[in-house]
Amino acid sequence: MSTKSTVPCDTVRKIESEPLVPFVSPSSVACPRGYVHVERSLYMSEDEDLGAAKKAVRRLAEEDYTAAGEAYTTAAREGLAGHGSATHPAYERRDRSAAGRSLTCFARAAVCHRVAGEISRGEKVSREGIAVAEELRDNVLTNGVERAACEEFVGDLLSVVGDEGSSEAYERAKEGYGAADPEDPASETGRPFLQAGTELIAHVSRPDDVGWDDVHGSGGEDALERRVRTKRSRVESFVKKRVRESKLHAPRGSTEYNTGRYECPDCGSDDVNYIAETTLCLRCSAYTERV
Ligand SMILES: [Zn+2]
Repeated sequence: MSTKSTVPCDTVRKIESEPLVPFVSPSSVACPRGYVHVERSLYMSEDEDLGAAKKAVRRLAEEDYTAAGEAYTTAAREGLAGHGSATHPAYERRDRSAAGRSLTCFARAAVCHRVAGEISRGEKVSREGIAVAEELRDNVLTNGVERAACEEFVGDLLSVVGDEGSSEAYERAKEGYGAADPEDPASETGRPFLQAGTELIAHVSRPDDVGWDDVHGSGGEDALERRVRTKRSRVESFVKKRVRESKLHAPRGSTEYNTGRYECPDCGSDDVNYIAETTLCLRCSAYTERV
């Protein structure tokens, strides 16, 4: 899909009324009625200006899963290096790591390659992610909960490629969380490292859209145990479903229902998902259009 397609004349609108406009493009054309005729690029920033994770989401919208897998792998590596949206390399901030997002990007890349039918590529990025998770566990992270979460990530990375070793990894995660014995297990899930792991299961579950409560229950003492149990029983089956349907949806950004302002050219829905500096159909992840 071209990012340059011109919005049809009947959809011209006052520029101030468009909530998503990040800047006024020099390519905007003033019209005698006081409206601004804009190019799509105004609503969707140019691809080359985006970080790898956002590019990956756009490739998902285009159902180009090989390119999405490659973009997610790049996002994982750039995050570990402290580039892109990451503010610190993985070897800094040992007490509060943001490297979890990179581990999820390896997992997402593996899913993309599987959806594209590239089994071996999927396994390779999964192995890369596992090597990083083990390095973080053994030599970088200092917090017991985060070290246990590394085992959980190993479980996720094995699950997404259908490796039965995932069960043992999840068991180690459960034991690790138990040994860390945090005072308030549910609040530990707010650590960026663990939050990333919640986002991963939410993403691969789409369009079922598993939420925090589905993963952790009501947030009681057993929140971390439930988390591991949920992942063990569901991540692999979610991914199998994505592979069977040959589709990994875009993750949820901020969403809006019954907009009346958009119509998906593929499925007709007007529910939208604002993500990767563009607007996708919430239902089928295609680029949606203003009506
Ligand atoms: Zn749609």
